[in-house]
Amino acid sequence: MFALKADWSQEIKKRYFTLDDYTGGEARWCPGCGDHAVLTVVQRICRDKQILPEKTVAVSGIGCSSRLPHYMGTYGFHGTHGRALTIACGIRSRRPDLDVWVATGDGDCFSIGAGHWIHAIRYNMNMVVLIFDNNVYGLTKKQMSPTSPLGFKNNTAPRGTILQPLNPLTVTLGITNVSFVAQTIDWNPAHLYATLQAAHNHRGTSFVRILQRCPVYSDEVFSDIQNDPSKILFLNHKNGIHIGDNVKRLFPTQREHDPSNMSEAYDIARNHVPVGLLYHAPQTPCYEDFSSVGRHMGIEDKMKGLNDALDQFAV
Ligand code: SF4
Ligand code: MG
Repeated sequence: MFALKADWSQEIKKRYFTLDDYTGGEARWCPGCGDHAVLTVVQRICRDKQILPEKTVAVSGIGCSSRLPHYMGTYGFHGTHGRALTIACGIRSRRPDLDVWVATGDGDCFSIGAGHWIHAIRYNMNMVVLIFDNNVYGLTKKQMSPTSPLGFKNNTAPRGTILQPLNPLTVTLGITNVSFVAQTIDWNPAHLYATLQAAHNHRGTSFVRILQRCPVYSDEVFSDIQNDPSKILFLNHKNGIHIGDNVKRLFPTQREHDPSNMSEAYDIARNHVPVGLLYHAPQTPCYEDFSSVGRHMGIEDKMKGLNDALDQFAV
């Protein structure tokens, strides 16, 4: 007779997640597209922090960068145009236990999604907002976006854009309740990693504008700062983005900037191309601390609460 040796223990075994656990479908962005770098960094941060894949959600709107949820091995929500932040706020509102990463682009967020951008920043719900800013609509093949530079020739303005581009950093800094604003570049993986890690460590809405190369439709927009990194202002501070001297050396133009200083952050955002943490206010209230109250209530308690509220209007 053989005795079957089954393991009936109820202990949950400690799991170790590898990059494979955060990897979804094969990324189908163009070769050389900056989106690949961002995806890799997000997956590495998830792995390095051992974030539970089943507690992670990648949310997006529409655009090239909005394909990111398909390439994550976590939960994902590929939303509608401009609505990535509304969906993300809805998720955080009822499931504040989930880790939320939002992928949105300059067209998706700053044009059709501009209203949601303003209110999501004000609601300050805990999430990392990755702005893939390539200064163009890539998915629909080279229309001007709100951040297209002056004179940029494209399919909607073949003779070149005539308006100055919108500055997403100054706009975001001007929104009530803003708590975290940073800028980084896709072509420096160490700085990208350190910035997204700081963003993830922050509790609240971390707004990270990533200058993202689109070699197909807007190859020239960052060539100036890529060829001459002295045109980038590297922000240094003990409360800023922590990075090794080997990376700092690549940025000849540097400045000490205390990220709690809003007026200086605004001045930098308006007059420079910065990389680093512009603004950080860690004590800013988060809306889900109010909106998620009572989410564990049973159906009877909910019905009683509803009836009590309706009774106020009884005549
Ligand atoms: Fe990337 Fe541009 Fe290709 Fe879109 S069109 S996948 S942004 S390189
Ligand atoms: Mg774009």
